[in-house]
Amino acid sequence: MYTDVSLFIDGEWTAGTSGKSEPILNPATGKALARLHHAGIAELDRALAAADKGFKTWRAVSPFERYKVLRKAANLMRERADEIAQLMTLEQGKPLMEAKMEAMSAGDLIDWFAEEARRTYGQIVPPRAEGVTQLVIKEPVGPVAAFTPWNFPINQAVRKVSAALAAGCSVILKGPEETPASCAALIRAYADAGVPAGVINLVFGVPSEISEYLIPHPVIRKITFTGSTPVGKKLASLAGQHMKRITMELGGHAPAIVFEDADVASAAKQLAGAKFRNAGQVCVSPTRFLVHESVYAQFVDGFVATASQIKVGDGLQKDTRMGPLANSRRVEAMQMFVDDAVAKGAKVAIGGKRVPGDGYFFEPTVLTDVPADARILHEEPFGPIAPIMRFKTYDEVVAEANRLPFGLAAYAFTKSLKTATAIGTAIESGMVSINHFGLALPEVPFGGIKDSGYGTEGGSEAIDAYLNAKFVTQTGL
Ligand code: NAD
Repeated sequence: MYTDVSLFIDGEWTAGTSGKSEPILNPATGKALARLHHAGIAELDRALAAADKGFKTWRAVSPFERYKVLRKAANLMRERADEIAQLMTLEQGKPLMEAKMEAMSAGDLIDWFAEEARRTYGQIVPPRAEGVTQLVIKEPVGPVAAFTPWNFPINQAVRKVSAALAAGCSVILKGPEETPASCAALIRAYADAGVPAGVINLVFGVPSEISEYLIPHPVIRKITFTGSTPVGKKLASLAGQHMKRITMELGGHAPAIVFEDADVASAAKQLAGAKFRNAGQVCVSPTRFLVHESVYAQFVDGFVATASQIKVGDGLQKDTRMGPLANSRRVEAMQMFVDDAVAKGAKVAIGGKRVPGDGYFFEPTVLTDVPADARILHEEPFGPIAPIMRFKTYDEVVAEANRLPFGLAAYAFTKSLKTATAIGTAIESGMVSINHFGLALPEVPFGGIKDSGYGTEGGSEAIDAYLNAKFVTQTGL
């Protein structure tokens, strides 16, 4: 049932004319599932013309009508969740249940943005002179070029596309080449719900060729990217040269702090569960475990106990709790992180190597006593490795948490209200979750600071990224 994946341009699914394609691999087997058609310049030009035309159509559709179309798309995602989950697990590797949750939660995200369409309020500003009317009007920014990655093939795309559509923008989405079918299923849901031809377009190909063509193009008014910090910086600088608005959701390296007064058993269980979700390929994954020295041994024991119960396997198998990594690059990166840390003195408490056989499997891995110069404490792991370190004082752990240029997510566990309040303020990151995992709901902000990017993709602020605030002042003749 997994078939070749096409481009979607001006309301039509097409293989394009470039004649280029690439195999789509199942990361659980390393074998090809089908082929992905690539867009050439001719397809990008068609998508640009479609988005230009689509913007003129869609911006004239009332927010209430846009809301109705988007609500339909949300329902279609829920109705099709089982079918879409199969595609996602085949191409991305995550357990079927996680894939289904992603498709279902896309429905929630679309619903949120559908409602937001109806709340794109302006303002009337009191004038200084009699007879003057001052209006602030929210207008869609224009055709959007969106770039999304393979770790959450639907979730990363649905936030961008839904916000853009709710605001009245048209979109050209460059989806993830590794995981295109589930992303295409999302686009199909919008189209089937009634988003007019041209308003939404989906392309695949060589990422740098597409971004270098679309970003400077005069039709495109807004760039939004989710992916690594180095690529984000490249795209942001190109967008800057052409004065395009940008949203950047980039890498993180989230500290997870366990204070001496925490419920250590619960923290260990929750953090291990979060760490290995999607095989650790999550931008808000907890990745630097900072544990008070007095509870370190207890925490490591609890964490390892949970990690050791994780069944690794093909995501299509019912009992699988962690699937393969998305591609061979990630497996190589994991081995490099482990070998480097061990060579510098870290101990492997569990895991530490590739699972033999086909597919890109890596064992859930826990490293203890990781020295400060280990690469894993500086670079985002984006995989199933948990380095656990000790700390002594509050000031020391705050300094360590804020040491890196990243600032996306952070976690803390404590029973003290005073410590919880203090740490929520002291940590430099876009999101802080204390004593539970409460991030990424549609109605709350989602985004980072520092090298993790800027702009939020959730909450009531998210739609603003796709709107201009236009000021109109008028007086009697
Ligand atoms: P990568 O930097 O090569 O690519 C990351 C994403 O950016 C991919 O989807 C890729 O198609 C896209 N991309 C790359 N170059 C591009 C360009 N010039 N123009 C437009 N898009 C481009 O990394 P990777 O090997 O695919 O993933 C590894 C790293 O990426 C991870 O370590 C992680 O830091 C980051 N990543 C982050 C997220 C996230 O959710 N923030 C998601 C996926 C990957």
